[in-house]
Amino acid sequence: MSETEANSVSPEQIVAADSLRAVLEGNLENGLKTEIEPRAYSSEEVNEIVARLQTLEEADHSKKLVIAGFTLEAYNPGDDEDDDQACETCMYYLVHRKFCELPELMLPVEENWSCRFWRI
Ligand code: SF4
Repeated sequence: MSETEANSVSPEQIVAADSLRAVLEGNLENGLKTEIEPRAYSSEEVNEIVARLQTLEEADHSKKLVIAGFTLEAYNPGDDEDDDQACETCMYYLVHRKFCELPELMLPVEENWSCRFWRI
């Protein structure tokens, strides 16, 4: 973690993130149906999904999960495990906070979760 990143998060924010992460996990475990495909590979696809996310209230976390196509396991487009699209290898993942910093998401996540915005 960079010094700036470490200094910018309070203990209260960490507790709140842990709590929200557990809620999101519960939603997904309880069968929340998310839009896993089509993946957002082209800029047009990304823009379309981003535009939908931008219509949501910031606290509408479960709708964010749906539109971004969250899964509790890494999505894999084939059968090579090297192709896993897990949060832990995504450019938007903050490893020490277990947090997704994509501006339209800004959600606590787990390293093995996944969504349509995965980018290496
Ligand atoms: S954008 Fe990346 S870090 Fe954020 S939820 Fe999707 S896969 Fe995970």
